[in-house]
Amino acid sequence: MNIEKILDEIENILEGNSHLDELANKVRDPFKILISTILSARTRDANTKEATETLFKKYDTSNLIAEADVEDLERLIKKSGFYKVKAARIKEVSRIILEQFNGQVPKDFNELINLPGVGAKTANCVLVYAFKIPAIPVDTHVHRISNRIGWVTTKKPEDTESALKELIPKNQWIRVNRLFVKFGQQICLPNNPKCNSCPIKKSCPQDFSMENARKRKKKEKKT
Ligand code: SF4
Repeated sequence: MNIEKILDEIENILEGNSHLDELANKVRDPFKILISTILSARTRDANTKEATETLFKKYDTSNLIAEADVEDLERLIKKSGFYKVKAARIKEVSRIILEQFNGQVPKDFNELINLPGVGAKTANCVLVYAFKIPAIPVDTHVHRISNRIGWVTTKKPEDTESALKELIPKNQWIRVNRLFVKFGQQICLPNNPKCNSCPIKKSCPQDFSMENARKRKKKEKKT
């Protein structure tokens, strides 16, 4: 299996960039990428983008967020959901970054996951998007697609990360999250994936075209 070729085929069909990719291309600020990744938990890209932009218009440094009124933070990031928990987290993370890391986001996975509310996915996102360090952040899209295309057979995202690292050459790790997030939003959707227009259909053991056609017919009959 030529993994690089499969990733190229996916890349060629995708349109636009994911929110984190866009942010990384625009600002290259590890602190902003860390905060935006925390805001992205359990919400869609569009909501994360809106909450991030609203927040950074008023508070865009660790200093400002650490000193901000938590209710004001809640108001600004409301669109991202779970805003009370997230507001308290970004405030606390900002304080720790200031006090323990001199205002600089650490480049180290173990230091990152010690920050409150920062798990493996967020830490790996910071490594990839802020520092261009090879890592594989596994979110819901990466987990689902890797299993569908048969690269891994895993139940939990943490197992997916280690299985993917075994399989994928290290020089390709950095592409996986960026491509699979967009691929999962545009083609290999959670429900009714667009297998008919999928560029890697031939190498995917799970072609849902027939199933989708059956569902469509059933729906048509009902109407
Ligand atoms: S063929 Fe369908 S299930 Fe397989 S990767 Fe493509 S869209 Fe996803």
